[in-house]
Amino acid sequence: MNYEAIIVGGGVAGASLSLLLGQAGMKICLLDKENPSSIKQNDFFKGKTASLNLNSIDLLKKMGIWEKISKTSKDFTNIEVWDSEGSSVVTFDAKEISECRLGKIAHNNNLLKSIFDLLGELPNVDLLEHESVLSLNEGLESIEIQTDSGLNLEAQLIVGADGSMSSIRSLSSIPIRTWSYEQTAIVSLLESELPINETAYQIFTATGPIALLPVRVEEEDLISLIWSADKVYANKLFFLESSEFLKELELKTESKLGRFKLREEISSFPLHQLHAIKYFSKRTVLVGDSAHTIHPLAGQGLNLGLADVIDLSERILLLRREGRDIADEKMLKAYSDSREKVNLRMMAMMEAFKRGFASTNPWLKLGRNIAFSFTNETKFLKKKFIKEAAGIT
Ligand SMILES: Cc1cc2nc3c(=O)[nH]c(=O)nc-3n(C[C@H](O)[C@H](O)[C@H](O)COP(=O)(O)OP(=O)(O)OC[C@H]3O[C@@H](n4cnc5c(N)ncnc54)[C@H](O)[C@@H]3O)c2cc1C
Repeated sequence: MNYEAIIVGGGVAGASLSLLLGQAGMKICLLDKENPSSIKQNDFFKGKTASLNLNSIDLLKKMGIWEKISKTSKDFTNIEVWDSEGSSVVTFDAKEISECRLGKIAHNNNLLKSIFDLLGELPNVDLLEHESVLSLNEGLESIEIQTDSGLNLEAQLIVGADGSMSSIRSLSSIPIRTWSYEQTAIVSLLESELPINETAYQIFTATGPIALLPVRVEEEDLISLIWSADKVYANKLFFLESSEFLKELELKTESKLGRFKLREEISSFPLHQLHAIKYFSKRTVLVGDSAHTIHPLAGQGLNLGLADVIDLSERILLLRREGRDIADEKMLKAYSDSREKVNLRMMAMMEAFKRGFASTNPWLKLGRNIAFSFTNETKFLKKKFIKEAAGIT
């Protein structure tokens, strides 16, 4: 047997799982169709950001990358949510759950760089880049893969961490439920006239939610913009002159942070929701976006993926310590059942938010305002929301 596990997909979820299993001494192969290990210094602070909850932060500590990440990421201690169609605002403060922060905003590229640096030090982890899996052959005690460059590799377990369009999920014939949000996320980095401090803003508009998150870029405090907008409107925004784009943003955010300046070219990501009917099949198992892809409106996608990684790695390592098959069906089913429950709950919540706020029905608008005021004034409900956002269960 070449490997104990082959992990397909070196995004944050797959790379984290490889690191945890590799640090425990397992013989691992991490395979990616791109070359995620070669992120350049200039790209550290580009592209997607992630609001890491306290659970994800604990994982980064366990992997040994927290010290590095904490220096280059930014605390958020408050979340302020408002509805541009109404006057209500809800604020969530870390103090209300006796914590010093609700989480940290980090750059995905920076996370990846730190993880790959440590992976490079592990002789028991092989990294294969610019490789894709063409086929899977299930055996009784192992599984074999063929790659597009003609490699044949064998392992006890294959992990699909290859994102939303997962090839491992398709090759394992794991069915999914999926639907498009008919929205695109416009992402960029901004400078603002007024300081954002440690507050994450979420503004619900009729054409989609806008998130303004505090980020640190080389000692400078900036803002990560994630503007999820209906497709046609997003397309219009994408092709606006920068000054027009910023004017539109200032209008939608009610100039809460004054005037903005663009610090990075805008990029866009199509948004859809996807959920695998189950997270395993024989000797393959899914983690992260390959199992569940959700709307970025509450910044929970990666947090859910990292929670999968924690759960699965603990179960694999327990079986390994007991000298048992790490692709044991009962274990994979228990993992799938436990993670599905949590992920589906979050997806249902995101869907309700997305639909509720997209509606222009006056009764729904009134309901939203009442719900906002009620939430803001009801201590136990607020605490529940804050704990959910911070990843405390
Ligand atoms: C605009 C936006 C903002 C977001 N903000 C947040 C946030 O604030 N907080 C949060 O928690 N989440 C956020 N998310 C979600 C988060 O980015 C994703 O959940 C997360 O990146 C998924 O990680 P992953 O490792 O599972 O998959 P991916 O990041 O998609 O990685 C998949 C990897 O697999 C590789 N791959 C793909 N196909 C193949 C193949 N066939 N063979 C081999 N390799 C393959 C890819 O090259 C890639 O390296 C956001 C998402 C978007 C779109």
